[in-house]
Amino acid sequence: PEMISIHDLAEKMKIQPSVIIKKLFLAGKMVTVNSELDFEAAGELAMEMNFDPVPEEKEDVIAKMLEDSEDGAETLVPRPPVVCVMGHVDHGKTSLLDAIRDTHVIDREAGGITQHIGAYVVTINGQKITFLDTPGHEAFTAMRMRGANSTDIAILVVAADDGVMPQTVEAINHAKAAGIEIIVAINKIDKPSANIERVKQELTEYELIPEDWGGSTIFCPVSAHTHEGIDNLLEMILLTSEVLELKANPNRRARGLVIEAELDKGKGPVATVLVQKGTLHVGDPIAVGSCHGKVRAMMDDNGRRVKEAGPSKPVEILGLNDVPNAGEIFVSPETDKEARAFAETYVKESREKLIEDTKLKMSLDDLYSQ
Ligand code: GDP
Ligand code: MG
Repeated sequence: PEMISIHDLAEKMKIQPSVIIKKLFLAGKMVTVNSELDFEAAGELAMEMNFDPVPEEKEDVIAKMLEDSEDGAETLVPRPPVVCVMGHVDHGKTSLLDAIRDTHVIDREAGGITQHIGAYVVTINGQKITFLDTPGHEAFTAMRMRGANSTDIAILVVAADDGVMPQTVEAINHAKAAGIEIIVAINKIDKPSANIERVKQELTEYELIPEDWGGSTIFCPVSAHTHEGIDNLLEMILLTSEVLELKANPNRRARGLVIEAELDKGKGPVATVLVQKGTLHVGDPIAVGSCHGKVRAMMDDNGRRVKEAGPSKPVEILGLNDVPNAGEIFVSPETDKEARAFAETYVKESREKLIEDTKLKMSLDDLYSQ
């Protein structure tokens, strides 16, 4: 490690060497002006003495913990697409999600209650599509910060009677920045004032050009009210998903994202997670942000208990010791001990990062420069 003598350190700190020697003596260390301290000890000492160095570029331990190895091509199998709905307020995002759910959640068992878990799965022609129905701009941002993406395809909802509006443009920018495929759903075509051509025209400005105009964007006219065009939209999602060749390895420790989470009076911390890789089982250790635990129970979007959840499957899980943040990545280590260590390191690193960010900026390089 890099070393610095007490003499040099005192000089950098503009104090007498004896002050440092005394300080170390009181801490039980006998030193002289010529004794050397390593980088870290010197930094600690300087900080204790209210000299505020920022240590060398600190490695991002959390990012390192979240690092993941690529799965070999031979381990990958097709997985359902994960789709979100974006667009301007009142253009019909909620109505469209409701219409899709009402017409196509056929997995429902008699007596099963459809509950809101922030995501649901639709089965069409035997193929599945996972819809996120969280209006999660915040979650979206958090995921991006961790370099993770929740969605493969964004349905951009534009009302046929209103056209491109500010949040339409915002949504386009979000999706493009995240590298998400966009499918345009021109909604409210049942309205007399609907003007599909106008919407197409307006969107060309944002490089969303329909196929019949020589572009490559899929446009689906729909009505969330009459359900016209909804099956076509779902088919286009499946088609796009095939082109994207979405795949994941189901045979590994699970990892994915928190869609939403809350504290339930009866059940304790409840989190809806989207498994992205691997398979999560009841009994698996799990860690997410500062929270950890063991999956005690899992529920699918139909409120049914399930024992395992593979890639692209959203499930509500019980068993975490606290409520995690939406957008955080969850991991499922081999052991409870690792899950706990993950959470503890996360807490420690987050705290240190906070201190560091707010600390007076003065680099150790300055401190040590000759
Ligand atoms: P959101 O803000 O994007 O989630 O929009 P909503 O789903 O809340 O819809 C806003 C309004 O538009 C509501 O009054 C809906 O009833 C209405 N709406 C949504 N879809 C349609 C549609 O296909 N046709 C008509 N006529 N109205 C619609
Ligand atoms: Mg809404």
